[in-house]
Amino acid sequence: MQNILEAVLSDGIRAEDLANLPLPASYRALTIHKDEIGMFDGMATRDKDPRASLHLDEVPVPEPDAGEALIAVMASSVNYNTVWSSIFEPVPTFMFLERYGRRSPAARRHDQPYHVLGSDLSGVVLRVGAGVQRWKPGDTVVAHCLSVELESPEGHDDTMLDPEQRIWGYETNFGGLAELALVKANQLMPKPAHLTWEESASPGLVHSTAYRQLVSRNGANMKQGDIVLIWGACGGLGSYAIQLALNGGAIPVCVVSSPEKAALCRAMGAELTIDRVAEGFSFWTEGGEADKKEWRRFKGRIRELTGGEDPDIVFEHPGRETFGASVFVASRGGTIVTCASTSGYEHHFDNRYLWMHLKKIIGTHFANYREAWLANRLVTRGLVHPTLSVTYPLDQAAEAVRNVQQNLHVGKIGVRCLAPADGLGVSDPLLRAEVADNLDLFQRWNAISPPEPELRPAALVDSPMAAQAPQPGT
Ligand code: NAP
Repeated sequence: MQNILEAVLSDGIRAEDLANLPLPASYRALTIHKDEIGMFDGMATRDKDPRASLHLDEVPVPEPDAGEALIAVMASSVNYNTVWSSIFEPVPTFMFLERYGRRSPAARRHDQPYHVLGSDLSGVVLRVGAGVQRWKPGDTVVAHCLSVELESPEGHDDTMLDPEQRIWGYETNFGGLAELALVKANQLMPKPAHLTWEESASPGLVHSTAYRQLVSRNGANMKQGDIVLIWGACGGLGSYAIQLALNGGAIPVCVVSSPEKAALCRAMGAELTIDRVAEGFSFWTEGGEADKKEWRRFKGRIRELTGGEDPDIVFEHPGRETFGASVFVASRGGTIVTCASTSGYEHHFDNRYLWMHLKKIIGTHFANYREAWLANRLVTRGLVHPTLSVTYPLDQAAEAVRNVQQNLHVGKIGVRCLAPADGLGVSDPLLRAEVADNLDLFQRWNAISPPEPELRPAALVDSPMAAQAPQPGT
């Protein structure tokens, strides 16, 4: 692995040199184990600690099959799907691997007693399988997480509709939280040249999802002037939804859970914020009932901020605790677009407000090939910026996953895989200088607003940046 790393880090990587380097027999990867599926049985979701189920293992290197690529992973990022995998909810992901494994001899490689997790990466192509023409060893890449077969006509227009659609690193094995990763070559996209390895690994999954959810005609088809209510506006999805709304001339109304997060929204240029905790909003009672008085109060608060208008689009993902309020506050003819149910997937809403006011609920999930490419293009051109707040080394990735599960982070948490340090991988310093002020906003915020310092890597807690960082909003 050291030879590979030295070759990748050397100036001017030569394809043939890299292609001729022998591969190691095994690599380090963040995994869960099939024989531990029952370890949290009987526990409440919040008590299931990913640090108990996540392992850093040496696993065998898979050989790329036709149409695939083996990537030296420089950096990855933590997505919420790794929280779900690590607590075996809503179903153990080994079920997906078993089902995939029954598809073909090549897919059978994915059905292992371990699952290598992770659905983002930035890195360097090491090997390509038969038939891959566009990519070659030495190319610097990011990978989106859409794995499809495209043998059925259903997916030929919108690749997300392929019946064999899977999320790589969640419903497939050999994911990105590892030193090496196996992807389909069609997942590869150019790495944004002005970003570091860890910055470029962070937008992928959440940004592409937010792009389809908000901008694409497969989602809410946002237009200039739309009022967009964004739940969790400083989280993974939300921090890209804010940028897409502002870029597209829309007016975001950001819901967050602390004054510091509200300040971070304003620092991104989103003026209208609601602190759901400080303002005491609670849309779901202990007994599992929706609270309609709260829906009305929330609608009033949004109107105060918008000059009396209701949201044209509600960007939904918290699910059960907020969904009823989302349907209620959307404008006549408005759209509630949902990609998740973090707080519970059985929702309650009052259908009268949906049909009488001609609202639409749209279900959306990740992004098709084209949407993922267009989302990456925005990052590559410096029009959307990574919201990386902190980076952990691979051997502390389980702590990072715990941090996300407990909602202690903002934006995205990066993971250094092969990259020996932060800050490497930039090959377009001119563009970087142009957008520099936007690149470390979340890191500066993170350094001065540490919710749980003991959960941070020691290097960050003691960072001189923490003392020097400007206040959020400046
Ligand atoms: P994240 O980084 O944890 O951000 C989620 C934000 O939601 C948090 O920052 C929090 O913000 C807010 N939130 C959490 N619980 C809430 C509640 N009960 N009520 C109101 N707000 C709440 O996670 P993410 O990456 O944005 O992902 C969010 C969800 O979407 C996860 O369930 C994930 O699995 C799913 N997802 C689905 C797709 C897909 O393709 N279908 C793609 C990406 C993510 P505040 O505390 O500041 O309000």
